[in-house]
Parts: sequence; C-alpha cells; structure tokens
Amino acid sequence: MKKQQYERPVIQKLNTGLMNKFGTKTEYSPVTHIDDVGVKDLINEFGSPLFVISEKTIRDTYASANRAFKTRYPKVQFAWSYKTNYMNAVCNVYHQMGSWGEVVSGFEYQKALKNGVPGNKIIFNGPDKTIDELKSAIENDSLIHIDHLDELYTIIELVDEVKKRPRVAIRVNMDTGIYPMWDRFGFNYENGQAWDAINKIILTDKMDLVGLHCHIGTFMLAPSAYGIAASKLSELALGIQKKYDKKIQYIDMGGGFASKNTLKGSYLQGVDASPTFDEFAEAITTSILNAGFVEDELPLLILETGRALIDDAGYLLGSVISNKRLSDGRRATILDFGVNVMFTSFWYDHKVSPAQEFSQYTEDAVLYGPLCMNIDVVRENVTLPPLKKGDHVVVHTVGAYNMTQWMQFIALRPAVVLIDLDNKPHVIRKRETLESIDANEQLPSYLKDFKL
Ligand SMILES: *Cc1c(COP(=O)(O)O)cnc(C)c1O
Repeated sequence: MKKQQYERPVIQKLNTGLMNKFGTKTEYSPVTHIDDVGVKDLINEFGSPLFVISEKTIRDTYASANRAFKTRYPKVQFAWSYKTNYMNAVCNVYHQMGSWGEVVSGFEYQKALKNGVPGNKIIFNGPDKTIDELKSAIENDSLIHIDHLDELYTIIELVDEVKKRPRVAIRVNMDTGIYPMWDRFGFNYENGQAWDAINKIILTDKMDLVGLHCHIGTFMLAPSAYGIAASKLSELALGIQKKYDKKIQYIDMGGGFASKNTLKGSYLQGVDASPTFDEFAEAITTSILNAGFVEDELPLLILETGRALIDDAGYLLGSVISNKRLSDGRRATILDFGVNVMFTSFWYDHKVSPAQEFSQYTEDAVLYGPLCMNIDVVRENVTLPPLKKGDHVVVHTVGAYNMTQWMQFIALRPAVVLIDLDNKPHVIRKRETLESIDANEQLPSYLKDFKL
C-alpha cells in the first residue's frame, strides 16, 4: 500500500449551497485505482475518456441479489435486462452466473441468441415485435410477453403457420400506489383488461399462458409497491387456476429496483436512499408466499432487475480539458466527456472523484462536457478540490444505460474495458473511429467531387 500523504488538520466552515443531512461534504479521497488497476495506467493504455467495468463488482452484486431472494423463496430465476447494458461481455458474465436473457426488441433478441442463450431462456418483452420476430420467437420456444391485443391477434394468426404452440405471458400494469402510474405497457389489472386478455388466450386455445409479468416503474424507491404488484399478480394466477384449472408457471416481477445513484434534487445520497435487495426481496416474496398457493405449486419467481445489478460496476474515466470563470464568478471545469456518453447525468448527480492527490481546499464548480452545446453539463453544482488541466477524474455508478443510450454526437464513443477477477483489463468494445462510423455511409458518385 502507498504511504498516505500527511495533511495538516483544518477547521473548515460549511459552504452555503445545497446541503444534505450530513452537511455539505468537503472531504474526498482520490480514486487512483479501479479494483487494483491504476486509473492513470488505464487512461494511458486505452485513452480518455474510457468506460471501465469491474467484473468483481458485477459478480458480488449479483451474488447478494441472488442470496436475498433465494434465502426467502424456493424458486428464483434472474433474467438479464439487455437494454440496461448489452455489451456482449457483460451479458455473458450474467449468463455465466445463471441469468437468462430479457430483451425488448428484435435487435436485442438476436444479440441474446448470438451470445448463446437458449431460445427457451429468452424473455421477449416490449411493444414492438414484428411478425418475423414473433415467428422466430415461437420457433425457438421463447417466452413471449404480450403487450397489447394486436400482438395477441398476430400470434393467434401465426400459430397455424408455424405449427408450434407458443409459450406466452401477459404484461400487466396496475396501481401500486406510485404515481404517475405506468399504464402504457401491457394490460391493466384494475379495469379488467388483464382478465380480458387472459380469457382470450385461454379460450382461443392456440398458445400456453405460462406466466404473468409486470415492470412497475424505474428507479423505484418503494419496496412496498413491489409487494402490492406481487399480490395482484398472485391473485390473477390463483384466479386463473380457479376459473380454468390451469397453473401459471411463473410470476415475473420485472426490474426497476433503484441503484445507488443519487437522483437530482434528492435530499439523501443514493447510498442512503435506495432500499437494499433484502428489502425488495422481503416485500415480493412475502406477498407471493401469503397469496395462498399450495406448497408444491408455488410459481417460479423471475426478476429482470437491471440497473441495481450493474450500475455500481461501471466507471467513466476522463480528463480535465480546461478551467474557466463564469460571469458570475463560479468555477467551471471542462471535461473530455459529456452527456453524449453520460446520458444519465440528465437525471442523476453522479459522484465524481479526482483521480490524484489534492489538498483539502474545495470550491463549488460546474462540470461541463466537451460538446459545443449548452446543455452539456455533467454536474450543475459540485464541491470539489480544484482540478487542473490534464488531471483525471473518475465518475461512479455509470454501469446502467450509459453504454446503450450513448450518442455518437459530435465526438466518437470511447472504448469499454472490463477488469477481470485477476485485475487484467480487457477491451470489450473498441473506441470508435472515423472508419467505423463511415462504414455505414454511402456517397452517391455525383457528390464525390467538388471544387472550392
Ligand atoms: C428496462 C426494463 C427492465 C430493467 O429495468 P431496470 O430499471 O434497469 O432494473 C426490466 N424489464 C423490462 C420489461 C424493462 O423494460
């Protein structure tokens, strides 16, 4: 271990401005390593900015989520939400740990198949499944989660052609006490749409209704909402058993558990505000266990949690381009990454740590990205030790959605590196180049030449 640098003790007045319960935080420690790999070495080797993913954190977080559910309920299955992070290497870490695949488009469905997920372990969600995609999902025996009646009718039509009985579930939306309610996907529980779909599926007798699905929201901070949702799905499952003598094989609770990020405007830091996996697991499993299933007929519990599993494992490393003073005197620090690669900075106050030693002096600053665009703000207000041109920073908790929602706008997208369990970095996505972007463009020959 490196010898700690001595700093004389200082009495520091709390700065005015945004405060949380703990006062404005003025102490930071530099983050010089991710796992055991030096931030400077990573940037020197792979460039700046750079996404870094810790395989160890992925595996540890997954293990604790798995433990939280498996200690409370006998039959649990995770399905990795591709849209949260579909780097193939990331997906395969989850698949190695036993996760199925959960996809919301034909593109993601292809990706899961290509990664080697068996068709019958792919859950196909989403409102937009084309006829060809549905056909291939039926042929591969995938779990098709029906979103609307038009999709149901299309599947009914396809069955005669494909000559295979599809395995389907319906997505159910419902009042869980969280508003605005997410009611644009699936069939509503309270107004009878869900029963309407169930009746049609069972009475047309063209497919097997094997599951019930919900995904009640995103970045959910209330485990009780999941408890309500699990009760309602259980009630539907038991109702189907009573009315049609058919057993529902699984209840899929979707995703949406909050990660440890801090939502903008949140009074508490994310690490203090977000419930633990144990709290979500307790709410969900208690509801299902209390619902009245016979012991050996408990449904499989499927979880499609995304952000809460991966967010912590992702880091974005970057460099300081410049400092300037805004007209109101505030310090502005310009970084080499912005909202183009850190889409989530629109709704989170991401923690940003300097990657090198610094003094305890701090100053309020605005962190800007490199884009020539006014909204390119990484942090509107952050108290940081002053950073110099060329210094490095580490942004925390960026594993979810940034590597799928990033934009190739103005700048090329950076490389993504996975640090394995032996602290060896692997490039899992190469940095984009002009050639890789140009590969899809076509120039009509009459536009090739010009004279200026
Ligand atoms: C996005 C999504 C998930 C994952 O959500 P997180 O908020 O990342 O946990 C799971 N299921 C469905 C249907 C989704 O659309």
